Amino acid sequence: MSIFTKIINGEIPSYKVAENNDFIAFLDINPNAKGHTLVVPKKEENKIFDLSKDEYSALMDFSYRVAKALEKTIACKRIGMSVIGLEVPHVHVHLIPINSMADMQFQQKVKLSNDEFVELAKLIADNFV
Ligand code: 5GP
Repeated sequence: MSIFTKIINGEIPSYKVAENNDFIAFLDINPNAKGHTLVVPKKEENKIFDLSKDEYSALMDFSYRVAKALEKTIACKRIGMSVIGLEVPHVHVHLIPINSMADMQFQQKVKLSNDEFVELAKLIADNFV
C-alpha cells in the first residue's frame, strides 16, 4: 500500500485542499514553493501512462480545477505541472506555483509551519470550485 493510499484512507494526516470520489489533492509535505500541491487518483496505480485514457483525462480535469484554485490563492507567475513518481510509486500530479525555473527543480525547498500549512490548505480549499 502506498503512503498516498494511507493518506486517502485517513491512516496518516495530510493538508487536504480538494477531494471527490476519484481524486484527492493535498499539500506536498516538502514543497518546492508555497502552495505546492499533489493531485492523486484514489485508485492506486504506479505510472501515469498506465491509467486508462478516461482515468487520465479525469485526472487532468481535476488537476485543472485545483490549479485554478491555486492561481486564485497564491501570488505567482504561473502554475507549473510535472509528473515524476520516482519517490512515491502512486500516480500524482505536482502543481507548483512558480516564479522561476528553480521552483520546478525539486532542489530548493520551502519550510512551512503546521499552522502555515493548515491556513494555506484552507485558503486553497475555499477557492476550489
Ligand atoms: P515523486 O514521487 O514525484 O518523485 O515525489 C513525491 C512527492 O511526494 C515529493 O514531492 C514529496 O515531498 C511528497 N511526499 C512524500 N511523502 C509524503 C507524505 O507523506 N505526505 C505528503 N503530503 N507529501 C509527501
